[in-house]
Amino acid sequence: NVTHIYNFSAGPAVLPKEVLTQAAAEMLDWHGSGMSVMEMSHRGPEFMSIYKAAERDLRELLAVPDNYKILFMQGGGLSQNALIPLNLLGHKPAGATIDFIHTGSWSGKSIKEAGKYANVNIAASSMTSVPPQSKWQLTPGAAYLHMCTNETIDGVEYDFDGGVPDAADPRLAGVPLVADMSSHILSREIDVAKYGVIFAGAQKNIGPAGVTIVIIRDDLLGHALPACPSAFDFKLVADNESMYNTPPTYGIYIAGLVFQWLKAQGGVAEMERRAKAKAELLYAALDVDDFYQNRVALPNRSRMNVPFYLKDESQNEAFLAGAKARGLLQLKGHKSVGGMRASIYNAMPIEGVQALVDYLNEFAGR
Ligand code: PMP
Repeated sequence: NVTHIYNFSAGPAVLPKEVLTQAAAEMLDWHGSGMSVMEMSHRGPEFMSIYKAAERDLRELLAVPDNYKILFMQGGGLSQNALIPLNLLGHKPAGATIDFIHTGSWSGKSIKEAGKYANVNIAASSMTSVPPQSKWQLTPGAAYLHMCTNETIDGVEYDFDGGVPDAADPRLAGVPLVADMSSHILSREIDVAKYGVIFAGAQKNIGPAGVTIVIIRDDLLGHALPACPSAFDFKLVADNESMYNTPPTYGIYIAGLVFQWLKAQGGVAEMERRAKAKAELLYAALDVDDFYQNRVALPNRSRMNVPFYLKDESQNEAFLAGAKARGLLQLKGHKSVGGMRASIYNAMPIEGVQALVDYLNEFAGR
């Protein structure tokens, strides 16, 4: 008798019930237009109003300064590993270097892809913590510095109070920061002005897979390599308000509903407060003894993606079966690292985390 389903998937992931209910009600006839959003021209007044509201609300939620463009693109987070070098290296000499902070699987993939376009320097590396900035071996005059501020698989998140360099850091003079925020965007307050480019696939905290958000400082536009595909040239996309080609319209509509929901809940500050409370509750249950183990350094434990291992891994299948029987779904860890993972994004209510904690205690015989 499962009374409630809680979906701990890393992405595509749980969305707010209110958003799905509204989308269902508007499915066949959006606001009396006689059309589903899926059927609308992206250039018509109806969809343009949806797009403009989504852009405005995201700008407000993240306090994006006026000298930044917000692009709604296709291709997902991974494609940005190629699109960012293709868009930022055009005015750099051949053989330019990109610096990377390597903290897990996703920054690892970014490093591999960037190697097709430039020299790469791994300035610091650890899969269980963010190395302190004083230890970073940065390249003077690097084309940019790339970091993944929340590693979805490894559960390593930057501690923003000290983890991300200040724009005024002399070691970064003229070196833009590029941040992959796919799995924690909108879950904590950020200072957008620290970054040259922020990108995020939508399918965790924003909406359906297929939309990719790029937030880019104006002065970085217009530096694409000649080989950059036009549909992915940030300047062309920006100049055409994400309508250079057909954008993922339905996904943008759902993202817009999520932004409205976030505003109604109290915005990013409230999401951060909830994320802290949910993460503290879950890590406390994992830390009671060594029945469960999370291997990430304390200041860098992710508030969004919580990987953990059973000390006795022969119980993994039994753990997952028991979880499923209680309506706690998608807790299996990523195949590359094994174990378990609970993703507790903005749309996961604290009741879901409490249900998981109750089960963790029960399974551990506490
Ligand atoms: N970066 C991060 C941090 C991610 O979590 C993911 C997806 N899990 C990606 C990039 C890749 O995104 P996509 O699958 O949309 O290409």
